[in-house]
Amino acid sequence: MSYAENNRPLQIAIDGPAGAGKSSVAKVLARRLGCIYLDTGAMYRAVTWLAMQNQVAFDDMEGMKQLLAELQLEFKDEDNVQHLYCNGTDVTEAIRTPEISANVSAVSMIPLVREEMTAQQQKIAAGCNVLMDGRDIGTTVLPDAQYKFFLTASLEERARRRALELQQKGVEVDMEQLMADIALRDKKDSSRDVSPLRQAEDAELIDTSHMSFEEVVENLFMRIKK
Ligand code: C5P
Repeated sequence: MSYAENNRPLQIAIDGPAGAGKSSVAKVLARRLGCIYLDTGAMYRAVTWLAMQNQVAFDDMEGMKQLLAELQLEFKDEDNVQHLYCNGTDVTEAIRTPEISANVSAVSMIPLVREEMTAQQQKIAAGCNVLMDGRDIGTTVLPDAQYKFFLTASLEERARRRALELQQKGVEVDMEQLMADIALRDKKDSSRDVSPLRQAEDAELIDTSHMSFEEVVENLFMRIKK
């Protein structure tokens, strides 16, 4: 691939706050570039789902350790949709509920969990061209990525996009509540001790508040092609 330097696999990091459109952009961009897409937020969501299913309290470190020791996460493409399997169960839909969104930050701040997720993500990136989206990709998971982007948008715009997504799934939305939930999750993700949500020093900041989805994809694609 012409944009992979010195035969090193291509690494693209997209970070940013909740609802900035990272995943939707990343999916399309990865397809256009022909690289693997890794949704790291889905991995933290799956650990949260598993802990809740097994009634393991988030401050029970022995219980969390055991869960992580048995954890099997597998991404599979089925009919052009990326599905995530957690210990053999398809959790693609189950990890997108408001309940998981409300609890995931408490799980993703646990150092043990971050260590395990980071190790798995780096292992996946080792042998292939990859595009990852998350909160700490440019700072911690892929610090040497050739391309780093930090996507953001105003809180109102991010809530509006998330509301549209939820409404398309038939979920009723309270905008005020949605904005409060997103702001709280960002606050928790930004203020944790280990690998907080932060723009890497060498990442390009892209404010997508006034950009269409297609414009964001094209913008990133052109920067990478250059
Ligand atoms: O991207 P998404 O909103 O699905 O991420 C869910 C949560 O997973 C985030 O709010 C954050 O707590 C956690 N996360 C993280 N590090 C990443 C990706 C996600 O801590 N690289």
